[in-house]
Amino acid sequence: MTVTGLGIPGLASSTTSVAGMPETGPMVDTFGRVTRDLRVSLTDRCNLRCTYCMPAQGLDWLDDAAVLTTDEMIRLIGIGVSALGIRAVRFTGGEPLLRKDITQIIAAAAALHPRPELALTTNGLGLDKHAGALAAAGLNRVNVSLDTLDRDRFAAITRRDRIADVLLGLDAAAEAGLTPVKVNAVLAPDGGLDDAVALLRMCLDRGFALRIIEQMPLDADHRWSRADMITADQVYARLSAEFDLRPDSVPRGAAPAQTWVVGGHTAPGRDGTHVPARVGIIASVTRPFCGDCDRTRLTADGQLRTCLFSSTETDLRALLRSGVDDDTIAQAWRRATWGKLPGHAINDPSFLQPTRPMSAIGG
Ligand code: SAM
Ligand code: SF4
Repeated sequence: MTVTGLGIPGLASSTTSVAGMPETGPMVDTFGRVTRDLRVSLTDRCNLRCTYCMPAQGLDWLDDAAVLTTDEMIRLIGIGVSALGIRAVRFTGGEPLLRKDITQIIAAAAALHPRPELALTTNGLGLDKHAGALAAAGLNRVNVSLDTLDRDRFAAITRRDRIADVLLGLDAAAEAGLTPVKVNAVLAPDGGLDDAVALLRMCLDRGFALRIIEQMPLDADHRWSRADMITADQVYARLSAEFDLRPDSVPRGAAPAQTWVVGGHTAPGRDGTHVPARVGIIASVTRPFCGDCDRTRLTADGQLRTCLFSSTETDLRALLRSGVDDDTIAQAWRRATWGKLPGHAINDPSFLQPTRPMSAIGG
């Protein structure tokens, strides 16, 4: 893995100007994409063991000293927003609710100018206790991961019998106004299409927005197989046989999901109104959307990644801890973004799965 940044190998390369790269304004890359969306992994730890993400025994967690402190997290998010044009921040992990200072970090992000849109991706465990405080701190929206409504299937997929806690978390998120509440589902090869139908019915009943994600080769066990993956086309075929799916006229922009309106159903809009209900399918593998990607990612140990599938990282933690000023960190971030590759190459024969699994990158 190549690590750049002040170090600090890379001090010179981080600060030298690069031909054609704008040194102010929003971050751009050489393919003309503008980076507006920051994904922050708050921790690599988790209280579930989803088969497509973690091994049964968990992983070797990062040492506490390696993980960014509250102040370091807040400083990097501040640089992203104030100096680099980040307009949306999503907190993820591992399981972000395991991080005790999450409310403090969200409150600090909400106080930034311009105020970024703040969202959370969580497995929902403990959300029933924290949703109100998170909303009060400034969190706008939440995505709760839930792959099936069947208790036994949930226990088999996540290796924990905790579906009741996830459902409580979903209720609490809606109650706290963390809307639109989205449900993220990765479908199991056996029975996953039936799960998708049941999940969409539940989401339509409850006013949640379902997003079905193609399983990606990011599992720690390296067991992903294209042949086993349920594809976006299979999901669409099954859902459109059961529901009245209509093409969505709202432009997709940089959103990963292709969405459809579900005829005959509405969902709560942001301002108390009702909008047509929608369902989204994220075809990360079969129809990559890299050409519209606007994301940058920060791991819990302060490594910057321009893509989920990057094989290189930029060590912003080393920069932070070396005592440099915000502008130096911003320039290193800008340079890394400038060098972002055109796409993830999952479909190339030469594709290599990244060494970090999804839980350690931040999904
Ligand atoms: N623990 C939180 C959760 O599960 O929502 C946040 C982290 S998790 C890595 C973020 C999202 O990534 C979840 O929706 C999860 O289903 C998804 N995910 C994990 N492994 C995946 C994989 N191999 N392919 C596609 N999505 C995956
Ligand atoms: Fe944990 Fe989320 Fe990975 Fe499941 S998908 S093991 S909840 S980090």
